[in-house]
Amino acid sequence: MKAVTLHREQVYSGNLILVNAQYPLQQSTPPEQIRPLEHPQAYSENKTAPPHAQESFEHTAALPSSCVSLERKTALVLETLFTTIGSGSSLIPVSGFRTRREQEEIYASSLAEHGKDFTESYVASPGCSEHETGLAIDLALNRDPIDFLRPYFPRDGICGRFRSKAASYGFVERYQEGKEALTGIAPEPWHFRYVGLPHATIMNTHGFCLEEYLDYLKDFPYEGRHLEVHVENKSFELFYKKAEDDLTELTLPGYLPFQVSGDNREGFVFTLWR
Ligand SMILES: [Zn+2]
Repeated sequence: MKAVTLHREQVYSGNLILVNAQYPLQQSTPPEQIRPLEHPQAYSENKTAPPHAQESFEHTAALPSSCVSLERKTALVLETLFTTIGSGSSLIPVSGFRTRREQEEIYASSLAEHGKDFTESYVASPGCSEHETGLAIDLALNRDPIDFLRPYFPRDGICGRFRSKAASYGFVERYQEGKEALTGIAPEPWHFRYVGLPHATIMNTHGFCLEEYLDYLKDFPYEGRHLEVHVENKSFELFYKKAEDDLTELTLPGYLPFQVSGDNREGFVFTLWR
Protein backbone atom coordinates (compact mmCIF):
# COMPACT_ATOMS: atom_id res chain seq x y z
CA MET A 1 0.00 0.00 0.00
CA LYS A 2 1.04 3.56 -0.55
CA ALA A 3 0.23 6.42 1.82
CA VAL A 4 -0.98 9.66 0.25
CA THR A 5 -1.20 12.99 2.07
CA LEU A 6 -2.95 15.99 0.57
CA HIS A 7 -3.00 19.56 1.80
CA ARG A 8 -6.23 21.50 1.97
CA GLU A 9 -5.12 23.97 -0.74
CA GLN A 10 -4.77 21.12 -3.25
CA VAL A 11 -8.58 21.12 -3.42
CA TYR A 12 -8.19 24.21 -5.58
CA SER A 13 -6.01 22.79 -8.34
CA GLY A 14 -6.11 20.00 -10.91
CA ASN A 15 -7.81 19.24 -14.21
CA LEU A 16 -11.25 18.70 -12.64
CA ILE A 17 -11.60 21.97 -10.76
CA LEU A 18 -15.07 23.46 -11.07
CA VAL A 19 -14.94 27.19 -11.75
CA ASN A 20 -18.25 29.01 -12.05
CA ALA A 21 -20.20 31.83 -10.43
CA GLN A 22 -20.75 29.72 -7.31
CA TYR A 23 -17.17 28.45 -7.08
CA PRO A 24 -14.68 31.15 -8.09
CA LEU A 25 -11.09 30.24 -8.75
CA GLN A 26 -9.29 30.16 -5.40
CA GLN A 27 -5.71 30.00 -6.64
CA SER A 28 -4.35 31.73 -9.70
CA THR A 29 -2.58 29.39 -12.10
CA PRO A 30 1.21 29.66 -11.65
CA PRO A 31 2.84 31.30 -14.71
CA GLU A 32 5.28 28.40 -15.10
CA GLN A 33 2.32 26.11 -15.76
CA ILE A 34 1.21 28.21 -18.75
CA ARG A 35 2.78 28.14 -22.19
CA PRO A 36 1.88 29.42 -25.70
CA LEU A 37 -0.09 27.10 -27.90
CA GLU A 38 1.81 26.08 -31.01
CA HIS A 39 -0.45 26.45 -34.00
CA PRO A 40 0.14 26.99 -37.72
CA GLN A 41 -2.39 29.77 -38.02
CA ALA A 42 -0.71 33.15 -37.65
CA TYR A 43 -2.75 36.25 -37.90
CA SER A 44 -1.71 39.19 -40.03
CA GLU A 45 -0.87 42.50 -38.37
CA ASN A 46 -4.17 44.22 -39.08
CA LYS A 47 -6.06 41.48 -37.27
CA THR A 48 -4.17 41.41 -34.02
CA ALA A 49 -5.60 44.14 -31.81
CA PRO A 50 -6.17 42.98 -28.25
CA PRO A 51 -9.86 42.92 -27.29
CA HIS A 52 -9.75 45.90 -24.96
CA ALA A 53 -8.32 48.03 -27.78
CA GLN A 54 -11.10 47.19 -30.15
CA GLU A 55 -14.14 49.33 -30.60
CA SER A 56 -16.34 46.34 -31.17
CA PHE A 57 -16.06 42.61 -30.69
CA GLU A 58 -18.37 42.01 -33.62
CA HIS A 59 -16.66 41.70 -36.95
CA THR A 60 -13.26 42.13 -35.44
CA ALA A 61 -10.56 39.57 -35.26
CA ALA A 62 -9.54 37.42 -32.38
CA LEU A 63 -6.34 37.61 -30.48
CA PRO A 64 -3.54 36.22 -32.61
CA SER A 65 -3.11 32.51 -32.09
CA SER A 66 0.52 33.11 -31.12
CA CYS A 67 -0.84 34.92 -28.06
CA VAL A 68 -3.11 32.05 -27.03
CA SER A 69 -1.63 30.20 -24.08
CA LEU A 70 -2.84 27.23 -22.10
CA GLU A 71 -1.87 25.11 -19.13
CA ARG A 72 1.06 22.99 -20.31
CA LYS A 73 -0.56 19.60 -20.53
CA THR A 74 -3.75 21.05 -22.02
CA ALA A 75 -1.65 22.75 -24.71
CA LEU A 76 0.22 19.55 -25.53
CA VAL A 77 -2.95 17.45 -25.76
CA LEU A 78 -4.73 20.06 -27.89
CA GLU A 79 -1.77 20.27 -30.28
CA THR A 80 -1.84 16.46 -30.60
CA LEU A 81 -5.58 16.55 -31.27
CA PHE A 82 -5.13 19.21 -33.99
CA THR A 83 -2.45 17.04 -35.60
CA THR A 84 -4.63 13.92 -35.41
CA ILE A 85 -7.54 15.54 -37.23
CA GLY A 86 -5.24 17.40 -39.62
CA SER A 87 -6.91 20.73 -38.92
CA GLY A 88 -3.90 22.79 -40.04
CA SER A 89 -4.97 26.42 -40.28
CA SER A 90 -8.67 25.65 -40.67
CA LEU A 91 -9.30 26.05 -36.94
CA ILE A 92 -8.31 29.15 -34.98
CA PRO A 93 -7.60 29.13 -31.25
CA VAL A 94 -9.40 32.34 -30.33
CA SER A 95 -8.95 32.56 -26.58
CA GLY A 96 -7.17 30.39 -24.04
CA PHE A 97 -5.62 31.36 -20.73
CA ARG A 98 -6.60 34.77 -19.41
CA THR A 99 -5.18 36.56 -16.42
CA ARG A 100 -7.63 38.04 -13.94
CA ARG A 101 -6.88 41.47 -15.41
CA GLU A 102 -7.63 40.30 -18.95
CA GLN A 103 -10.92 38.79 -17.81
CA GLU A 104 -11.80 42.09 -16.09
CA GLU A 105 -11.06 43.98 -19.31
CA ILE A 106 -13.11 41.60 -21.46
CA TYR A 107 -16.01 41.79 -19.01
CA ALA A 108 -15.93 45.60 -18.88
CA SER A 109 -15.64 45.90 -22.66
CA SER A 110 -18.54 43.54 -23.21
CA LEU A 111 -20.69 45.42 -20.70
CA ALA A 112 -19.99 48.70 -22.47
CA GLU A 113 -20.49 47.25 -25.93
CA HIS A 114 -23.26 44.70 -25.50
CA GLY A 115 -24.96 45.47 -22.19
CA LYS A 116 -25.72 43.49 -19.06
CA ASP A 117 -27.91 40.66 -20.42
CA PHE A 118 -25.51 39.63 -23.17
CA THR A 119 -22.48 39.89 -20.91
CA GLU A 120 -24.01 37.86 -18.10
CA SER A 121 -24.97 35.16 -20.63
CA TYR A 122 -21.63 34.83 -22.40
CA VAL A 123 -18.88 36.32 -20.25
CA ALA A 124 -18.03 34.95 -16.83
CA SER A 125 -17.34 37.43 -14.05
CA PRO A 126 -13.66 37.94 -13.24
CA GLY A 127 -12.56 35.10 -10.96
CA CYS A 128 -15.35 32.86 -12.22
CA SER A 129 -14.02 32.18 -15.72
CA GLU A 130 -12.59 28.83 -16.73
CA HIS A 131 -10.22 30.77 -18.96
CA GLU A 132 -8.32 31.82 -15.84
CA THR A 133 -7.43 28.17 -15.22
CA GLY A 134 -5.65 27.64 -18.55
CA LEU A 135 -7.79 24.53 -19.06
CA ALA A 136 -10.28 26.13 -21.48
CA ILE A 137 -10.06 27.06 -25.14
CA ASP A 138 -12.41 28.92 -27.47
CA LEU A 139 -12.12 27.76 -31.07
CA ALA A 140 -13.31 29.24 -34.34
CA LEU A 141 -13.63 27.98 -37.85
CA ASN A 142 -11.16 30.00 -39.90
CA ARG A 143 -13.66 32.18 -41.71
CA ASP A 144 -14.04 35.95 -41.63
CA PRO A 145 -15.31 37.63 -39.59
CA ILE A 146 -14.26 36.02 -36.33
CA ASP A 147 -16.33 37.07 -33.35
CA PHE A 148 -14.10 37.13 -30.27
CA LEU A 149 -16.91 36.49 -27.78
CA ARG A 150 -19.03 34.09 -29.82
CA PRO A 151 -16.79 32.38 -32.38
CA TYR A 152 -18.43 30.36 -35.13
CA PHE A 153 -17.74 26.67 -34.51
CA PRO A 154 -20.35 24.55 -36.32
CA ARG A 155 -21.11 20.86 -35.89
CA ASP A 156 -20.04 19.67 -39.32
CA GLY A 157 -16.84 19.61 -41.35
CA ILE A 158 -13.52 20.03 -39.56
CA CYS A 159 -15.32 21.33 -36.45
CA GLY A 160 -17.39 18.13 -36.40
CA ARG A 161 -14.19 16.12 -36.71
CA PHE A 162 -12.74 17.99 -33.75
CA ARG A 163 -15.90 17.31 -31.72
CA SER A 164 -15.91 13.60 -32.55
CA LYS A 165 -12.33 13.19 -31.26
CA ALA A 166 -12.38 15.71 -28.40
CA ALA A 167 -13.57 13.41 -25.61
CA SER A 168 -10.98 10.73 -26.34
CA TYR A 169 -8.35 13.45 -25.81
CA GLY A 170 -9.96 14.65 -22.59
CA PHE A 171 -11.89 17.70 -23.85
CA VAL A 172 -15.60 18.38 -23.33
CA GLU A 173 -17.95 20.96 -24.78
CA ARG A 174 -18.44 22.72 -21.48
CA TYR A 175 -21.60 24.82 -21.93
CA GLN A 176 -24.25 22.77 -23.68
CA GLU A 177 -27.85 23.56 -24.44
CA GLY A 178 -30.19 22.46 -21.66
CA LYS A 179 -27.56 22.88 -18.91
CA GLU A 180 -27.87 26.64 -18.48
CA ALA A 181 -29.55 26.33 -15.06
CA LEU A 182 -26.55 24.33 -13.82
CA THR A 183 -23.67 26.11 -15.53
CA GLY A 184 -25.08 29.64 -15.43
CA ILE A 185 -23.74 30.17 -18.95
CA ALA A 186 -25.64 30.19 -22.26
CA PRO A 187 -24.76 27.45 -24.77
CA GLU A 188 -21.24 27.99 -26.10
CA PRO A 189 -20.51 25.47 -28.84
CA TRP A 190 -17.01 26.95 -29.25
CA HIS A 191 -15.77 26.56 -25.65
CA PHE A 192 -13.92 23.36 -24.77
CA ARG A 193 -12.60 22.38 -21.39
CA TYR A 194 -9.82 19.92 -20.69
CA VAL A 195 -10.79 17.49 -17.93
CA GLY A 196 -8.62 14.57 -19.03
CA LEU A 197 -9.32 10.88 -19.39
CA PRO A 198 -11.42 9.00 -18.56
CA HIS A 199 -13.53 11.93 -17.32
CA ALA A 200 -14.44 13.45 -20.70
CA THR A 201 -15.70 10.11 -21.99
CA ILE A 202 -17.76 9.39 -18.86
CA MET A 203 -19.28 12.87 -18.98
CA ASN A 204 -20.27 12.41 -22.63
CA THR A 205 -21.66 8.94 -22.05
CA HIS A 206 -23.96 10.21 -19.29
CA GLY A 207 -24.58 13.65 -20.79
CA PHE A 208 -23.16 15.31 -17.67
CA CYS A 209 -21.90 18.85 -17.45
CA LEU A 210 -19.01 19.28 -15.01
CA GLU A 211 -21.33 20.36 -12.19
CA GLU A 212 -23.33 17.13 -12.58
CA TYR A 213 -20.26 14.94 -13.01
CA LEU A 214 -18.63 16.08 -9.79
CA ASP A 215 -21.88 15.48 -7.92
CA TYR A 216 -22.11 12.01 -9.49
CA LEU A 217 -18.58 11.13 -8.36
CA LYS A 218 -19.52 11.91 -4.76
CA ASP A 219 -21.66 8.75 -4.92
CA PHE A 220 -18.37 6.80 -5.10
CA PRO A 221 -16.58 7.73 -1.88
CA TYR A 222 -13.13 6.48 -0.87
CA GLU A 223 -14.72 4.56 1.97
CA GLY A 224 -17.39 2.89 -0.22
CA ARG A 225 -17.89 1.38 -3.65
CA HIS A 226 -15.62 2.92 -6.28
CA LEU A 227 -16.56 3.67 -9.89
CA GLU A 228 -14.98 1.28 -12.37
CA VAL A 229 -14.95 2.20 -16.06
CA HIS A 230 -13.34 0.92 -19.23
CA VAL A 231 -12.33 3.72 -21.59
CA GLU A 232 -10.00 3.71 -24.63
CA ASN A 233 -8.98 0.11 -23.90
CA LYS A 234 -7.94 0.99 -20.38
CA SER A 235 -9.58 0.27 -17.05
CA PHE A 236 -9.98 3.00 -14.46
CA GLU A 237 -11.11 3.14 -10.88
CA LEU A 238 -12.43 6.44 -9.56
CA PHE A 239 -13.48 7.68 -6.16
CA TYR A 240 -14.16 10.88 -4.25
CA LYS A 241 -12.55 11.91 -0.98
CA LYS A 242 -13.81 14.84 1.06
CA ALA A 243 -10.96 17.07 2.21
CA GLU A 244 -10.14 17.40 5.90
CA ASP A 245 -9.52 20.86 7.34
CA ASP A 246 -5.76 20.52 7.17
CA LEU A 247 -4.30 17.23 5.91
CA THR A 248 -6.20 14.48 4.14
CA GLU A 249 -4.55 11.08 4.44
CA LEU A 250 -5.42 7.86 2.70
CA THR A 251 -3.81 4.71 1.36
CA LEU A 252 -3.86 3.40 -2.19
CA PRO A 253 -2.72 0.13 -3.78
CA GLY A 254 1.02 0.66 -4.24
CA TYR A 255 1.26 -0.81 -7.72
CA LEU A 256 -1.32 1.38 -9.48
CA PRO A 257 -0.51 4.70 -11.15
CA PHE A 258 -2.97 7.36 -10.09
CA GLN A 259 -3.92 10.98 -10.56
CA VAL A 260 -5.64 13.26 -8.09
CA SER A 261 -7.47 16.50 -8.76
CA GLY A 262 -9.23 18.91 -6.47
CA ASP A 263 -12.80 19.88 -7.33
CA ASN A 264 -12.43 23.53 -6.19
CA ARG A 265 -15.25 22.81 -3.75
CA GLU A 266 -14.47 20.54 -0.83
CA GLY A 267 -12.77 17.40 -2.02
CA PHE A 268 -10.60 15.35 -4.30
CA VAL A 269 -11.23 13.01 -7.22
CA PHE A 270 -8.83 10.08 -7.47
CA THR A 271 -8.30 8.27 -10.77
CA LEU A 272 -6.45 4.96 -10.70
CA TRP A 273 -5.18 3.18 -13.81
CA ARG A 274 -5.95 -0.47 -13.30
ZN1 LIG B 1 -14.60 30.37 -23.54
